[in-house]
Parts: sequence; structure tokens; C-alpha cells
Amino acid sequence: MYKFFCTGCTYHCKSRVGIIEGHYYSEAPMVCKECFGLDLYRIPNKQSGLVEALKDPVCKTCASEDGLVIWDGITCPKCINPMRSIGNAIEV
Ligand SMILES: [Zn+2]
Ligand SMILES: [Zn+2]
Repeated sequence: MYKFFCTGCTYHCKSRVGIIEGHYYSEAPMVCKECFGLDLYRIPNKQSGLVEALKDPVCKTCASEDGLVIWDGITCPKCINPMRSIGNAIEV
């Protein structure tokens, strides 16, 4: 995990970059188009046969069901300026 801040506005967050592929789930940073909340989400693998695979992840901040998109690790969700990571990795 790293701290990120936006070079264009005051938006900041804590996240990891990239998707971790698991057998049943992939874990990816996703950002919500409704509330700009960014968090790590487990995305069920559709091929795994899990019942949860039929449901898409829901925003942890505002519970929006269709606002989440996978974050590219660069773009500020608020103002589209590039974000920078600061400091060292944070253990969570
Ligand atoms: Zn910004
Ligand atoms: Zn949201």
C-alpha cells in the first residue's frame, strides 16, 4: 500500500496499484464514479462457479452498485490529473 496524492486537487488516498489474481477472487483497487471513494475490492472470478461471481462489487463508501471502475493507479478520480505516490510502502 502507498499513499497517493493528486497533483491537481486535494484528493488523496491509500492504495495499491495493480490487480492480484487469485483462484476464486482477484483483488483490485477500484474507484467509485459516484463518490470518488477508492478502496481495494475482491472481484469474484466468473469462471470459478462461485455464487458471488454473479454479483458485482458494491462501493464501500456510498453503496453504489454501478459506480465502480478499476483504478489505473495514475488518474485522479476527481479531476483526471495524474496522482503521485509519496513515501514508503505502508504495512496494513
Ligand atoms: Zn485531482
Ligand atoms: Zn461510492
